[in-house]
Amino acid sequence: MPQTKILLDESDIPSHWYNVVADMPNKPAPPLGPDGKPVGPEALAAIFPMALIEQEVSGERWIPIPEAVREAYRIYRPSPLFRAHRLEAALGTPARIYYKYEGVSPAGSHKVNTSIAQAWYNAQAGVKRLATETGAGQWGSSLALAGQMFGIEVRVYMVKVSYDQKPFRRSMMQTWGAEVLASPTNLTESGRKILAQDPNSPGSLGIAISEAVEEAASRPDTNYALGSVLNHVCHHQTIIGLEAKKQFEKVGEYPDMVFACCGGGSNFAGAAFPFLADKAAGKQVRLVAAEPTSCPTLTRGHYAYDFGDAVGLTPMMLMYTLGHDFVPPGIHAGGLRYHGDSPLVSQLYKEGLIEAVAVPQLATFEAGVTFARAEGIIPAPESCHAIRACLDEALRCKQTGEPKVLFFNLSGHGHFDMASYDAYFAGKLEDYAYPEHEIEAALHRLPKVAA
Ligand SMILES: *Cc1c(COP(=O)(O)O)cnc(C)c1O
Repeated sequence: MPQTKILLDESDIPSHWYNVVADMPNKPAPPLGPDGKPVGPEALAAIFPMALIEQEVSGERWIPIPEAVREAYRIYRPSPLFRAHRLEAALGTPARIYYKYEGVSPAGSHKVNTSIAQAWYNAQAGVKRLATETGAGQWGSSLALAGQMFGIEVRVYMVKVSYDQKPFRRSMMQTWGAEVLASPTNLTESGRKILAQDPNSPGSLGIAISEAVEEAASRPDTNYALGSVLNHVCHHQTIIGLEAKKQFEKVGEYPDMVFACCGGGSNFAGAAFPFLADKAAGKQVRLVAAEPTSCPTLTRGHYAYDFGDAVGLTPMMLMYTLGHDFVPPGIHAGGLRYHGDSPLVSQLYKEGLIEAVAVPQLATFEAGVTFARAEGIIPAPESCHAIRACLDEALRCKQTGEPKVLFFNLSGHGHFDMASYDAYFAGKLEDYAYPEHEIEAALHRLPKVAA
């Protein structure tokens, strides 16, 4: 039987991140300030270190990974690529299914790939504190870990619904020395504004971002770190796809299709962009982002300039959006409850270079359980969206007899999400209807700028 676990040596950890901008047919549109004019790098300097701002606007194809960051990556990288023999057999599909497992990081997801880099660049710039938001808790725990590694204090605004659903994520962040607050708080102007409108607000990523950005902008010792969406975050995550390509080469395979779940877009970017480089060079490969039907940013949103946060403190970015003040239903894949999407992912989708599908909550858990029973690993609810999309394709292959090579990114494990699995087994999970009216109302409140 062909290999199950395809491993690389530590020395195979890539020396550079890949920047997809170099291979995009059209250059990305600039972010805009409150006056509707492009914001220059200097406007971001209050909350980001210059090295990350340079990466944010860079058009260079390759960005060197600092030696200290590669050194920290060695704790868990290279991550394994698995051939899912047992899953293939369980499905009875002729497709060959591969998955890259990012749950091997200490915090349990791909987010550590960028938290390590961001904490290191901030430490180099002499920054002492980082403020950030977290949805399901994966980003907060990833940054808490990285802050601890490089001697930076971390304060995390955690979306209230997750704070209540996932108390152990909070303990994890505290173990790594971070301070965790349930957002909206009454400590920031932004939080107070939301609470005045709705004292029982479940919070959202957009609201928590407002709080963290406000704090970072108002304290000279504090910077801000974002776990997805921005270009530099997407670049850092390409370590996933770059390693995967080496692993595929080792077994003489190449994927026909690449799947990843899509919240802010960074793990999708990380898994898919290095393959997009080949697509730009003429190779046939389909890249599919999987999002929840309850928060269908790419498949049902508008391509427009919008704020990255709920209150409107960030520059406006040209992206697919459901409206910055849209609060998605409280699905268990908290990491996918974001109103917008990476501008890079959005533009590539707009230009038809990547695809997107929306999948309902129950079907994602069904796929996650099928996967866990076949392969052993219990996937994060977010990752279950990628698994669902991949399984659907594998089942189509069963119909047609096509032996396609399917690859998905298993962005994290679900060990802190067992309450969600419990709810699924107890029949308490629901498929939220597409929240058409709320989205329509939120889209009416998009900032008025000419795209
Ligand atoms: C945060 C998270 C996601 C979604 O975020 P992206 O920015 O879209 O990558 C997906 N999977 C896991 C396990 C996560 O923690």
